[in-house]
Amino acid sequence: MLNKFFKIQDTVDVYIKDLEQDGKVIITFHKMTTRQRVEIITKKNVAEFLALLDGKKSVIEILNKLGKFSSEEAEKLITYLSNEHLLTDTSLNIDIDHRYDRQINYFDDMILDRRGSETQKILASKHIVFLGCGAIGSTIAEILVRAGVQSLTLVDFKKITKSNIDLHLFATEENISESKVQALAKYLTKINQKIRIKTFDEKLLPNTDLSRWIDNKVDLVINSCDEPYIGHTSLKVGRYLQNFKIPLYIAGGFDAHLMSSGELINPPFTPCIDCSQQTFTKALEGWKPTYSHINTSNVIVENNQFDSENNYTVGGAGGLIMMSSFSANLSCIKILQFLCEDSSFDHTPIRYEYLPNKGVMTEFVLTRQEECNVCYK
Ligand SMILES: [Zn+2]
Repeated sequence: MLNKFFKIQDTVDVYIKDLEQDGKVIITFHKMTTRQRVEIITKKNVAEFLALLDGKKSVIEILNKLGKFSSEEAEKLITYLSNEHLLTDTSLNIDIDHRYDRQINYFDDMILDRRGSETQKILASKHIVFLGCGAIGSTIAEILVRAGVQSLTLVDFKKITKSNIDLHLFATEENISESKVQALAKYLTKINQKIRIKTFDEKLLPNTDLSRWIDNKVDLVINSCDEPYIGHTSLKVGRYLQNFKIPLYIAGGFDAHLMSSGELINPPFTPCIDCSQQTFTKALEGWKPTYSHINTSNVIVENNQFDSENNYTVGGAGGLIMMSSFSANLSCIKILQFLCEDSSFDHTPIRYEYLPNKGVMTEFVLTRQEECNVCYK
């Protein structure tokens, strides 16, 4: 330990106050991320020791300079402060890409299972499949790539149109009529050249062989397809993934849920896909998905296999960029914590939805159906 290089965590503010008695001081460590405080009453030379921990001088160099502070005392102090996530051993961060420095600091404070740099490596090892690269799917993809996810599969059959520019962050006047998967892959590669992306310019249909897109190395599938109706595609995908114990995140979807958190389907920790969909079927009793009018070359449900409705036309109703971005960001708070393997991750299946006309956040809990043999195996 004495040859190592420590520094106070970047997210920690340190306050030192003199106490009257015996030349002692009170040292307060204040974590900016969690608002947590740790206080110790100690000798003045401990404060001097802490002030010299800059990540560049080794502990032994500092002790030699200070004199009066013993190596046993220093080791005890460093162990205590490391356990409290207040100190960083900078030599362990050598192979970490410094673009993630601030995020690693955050992980250090918020995910207490391991060092932040280790959590960063876990995130980098994940492979995510995106079914749908629209306003929500693409924004989630961008957030995850910026956070350090390096392996993605993108599935979408559509091309970028003029009306996508107002909602898709990656759509520009230059890439109109390019396939969404190609345009998004190029955009994400500009953010991080190391990422590996597979693309499928294809439709998700009832007879789609999902094994072509999803293998057993996939860590998470994110479904944000709003056409065909997300409830139908999620049922197909969710039932398939259950066999391989691959979790599914359903994000955004059709217009009514543009400002929703979406939900994670990961049985047995959450209700299974059938139970989740049952919750919606009950809540939306009598409601049917509708599609607005657009040219027929874009018809996406062949032979009415997902629904008995005739004359499918696609396009969707209204939406604003902050609504889809809000939904994507809200989803990512859960998705990132899940991908980071945080042991404090809460699987309670609460779905949030912000009602912009009322200015309130609503919530409801997805429930397991009593007779379900997936949820109660
Ligand atoms: Zn169930």
